[in-house]
Amino acid sequence: MTFQRFVATLLEVERASSRIAMVKMLAEAFRELPPEEVPLAVLLLQGRVAPEFEGLEFGVAEKEAAKALALALGRDEAEIVQAVKEKGDIGAYALEALPRSAGGLTLRHVYDELRAIAEDAGPGSQARKRERLARLVAGASPEEAAVILRTVTGRLRLGVGDATVLEALALAYLGDRGKKPLLERAYNLTSDLAYVARLVLEGEAALRAVKLEVGKPVRMMLAERLPGPEQIMEKLGPHFAEHKYDGERVQVHFDGDRFWVYSRRLENITHQYPDLLEALREVQQRPFILEAEAVVTDPLTGEMRPFQNVLNRKVKHLTPELLEKYPIKGFVFELLYADGEVLIERPYRERRERLERWFSPHERLELSTKRFVKTTEELVRFFDASIEAGCEGLVCKKPDGDYEAGKRGFKWVKYKRGIAGKLSDTLDLVIVGAWLGRGRRAGTYGSLLAAAYDPDEDRFVTLTKVGSGFSDEDLNEVLPRRLDPYRREERHPRVWSLLEPDVWFEPVQVIEVEAQEITLSPNHTCAFGAVQEGRGLALRFPRFVRYRDDKSPEEATTTREVVEMYKNQWAG
Ligand code: ATP
Repeated sequence: MTFQRFVATLLEVERASSRIAMVKMLAEAFRELPPEEVPLAVLLLQGRVAPEFEGLEFGVAEKEAAKALALALGRDEAEIVQAVKEKGDIGAYALEALPRSAGGLTLRHVYDELRAIAEDAGPGSQARKRERLARLVAGASPEEAAVILRTVTGRLRLGVGDATVLEALALAYLGDRGKKPLLERAYNLTSDLAYVARLVLEGEAALRAVKLEVGKPVRMMLAERLPGPEQIMEKLGPHFAEHKYDGERVQVHFDGDRFWVYSRRLENITHQYPDLLEALREVQQRPFILEAEAVVTDPLTGEMRPFQNVLNRKVKHLTPELLEKYPIKGFVFELLYADGEVLIERPYRERRERLERWFSPHERLELSTKRFVKTTEELVRFFDASIEAGCEGLVCKKPDGDYEAGKRGFKWVKYKRGIAGKLSDTLDLVIVGAWLGRGRRAGTYGSLLAAAYDPDEDRFVTLTKVGSGFSDEDLNEVLPRRLDPYRREERHPRVWSLLEPDVWFEPVQVIEVEAQEITLSPNHTCAFGAVQEGRGLALRFPRFVRYRDDKSPEEATTTREVVEMYKNQWAG
């Protein structure tokens, strides 16, 4: 396929009137591709050359890309760098600056060159990357160049989510959108869209046979909410409750030699946990995949410290001082693979027994505290004990529940402390727009427009304006730094909103928000018409709690969850 055709598809898809139309367009484009190019197209659609968990980044800042563009144009470097800066989008600038030409690159060539740019590292790599990029851009049409330049600078964010790509692949190669769950399963086990694309070309049998692999992150199983202990007891019956630790969830893979640590959003964060891995290496020599909550402890007392402390380890170079100041303890709660056996389809009870037999304690490792509870009283008592121990509450687990990769279901239910006059749980929302501040807030963002995720439509639907809870530092520095790169003139195609904020953003940044109540609203699109005709749901008295960089936009609170929270808010 020519790259021009690929670029044309991107434009069509951006303008699609509905998700079904988007799926059909994509499926058509996939069908035109020779099979070996399908995985490449899937990656390029995501603006990548390898799955995110491999951590292969382009390492090309906008300034470097502008220099490459200057080289391609044969123009003065400083002049182009300045012009790109003023325009604010290198793609848009390239569209104007490059001479009309036919381009004629192939998809394969563009992929290979972009991959070479990403893989080039070490001394002199910056200059080599720049020259390679310049050659590529020089042979491209303005539209092709715009996509290439936005891709390498990480600015290509299309209106296509993973769910839409999977559905299009199902339609293109299995002839039926309804077969998406088969692809979803493979994706949940491997987190690798390009790999799923390869499998779908082999047919249904290959998809059904897919298993998790050490080294590839398994999409994490998530917990549902219920209003209170009675409802949890009613739903699960006698079950195992575990302390809910307030740290960072980590999935650790070990192949007998090498370790990988994946975050909640499946980023490779191996370098953040050398001490935890050292401990695991001391106690386990055979391959495994486990999940744990990594909690920072007080170096003097050994007591658990709140989540925010983990953020101190999120630096490029962890020093021995930082490791000493923020020591980690891993509370292991899942074993997905061990002794050559995949365990995720086994019931919780069995997985836990295996975990307990397999586990060896260590100064830095502990099993999550659990108890079998038969009555509401026992559950409440264990909950109180968990709070006393410094935890956030409990995660209640169904004894016969398997590990459902990538799903949020009632096999796990979280039980957190409800605060009087507030919703018992916070929401994780995506910022999609903002209003400019007035008065004391002039020159900053006054309030943000925040949205939930609607997985059925693969889009973001607004739920609230949020303006309180931000510190002056948030308003003056943090929010502009985080949001400005994603500003756009028009609404993003994946956002559905009835309100018109002053500025729009690409749906990227996730924040945690607490609120007093969920109400019906004619102004917001979240669950529009689901509870009452012509009305969506909105938050009352919302308040910013913190940034949730550990969540991708698609991991934000879903419309279904908001509806559940709306219905359950007065119960319990
Ligand atoms: P979610 O992970 O459900 O999307 P979240 O990140 O806001 O949302 P919570 O909803 O508060 O987290 O609770 C679920 C999280 O609790 C898990 O993802 C995990 O990180 C953490 N956790 C702590 N202890 C346990 C445990 N014993 N078993 C399972 N999860 C636990």
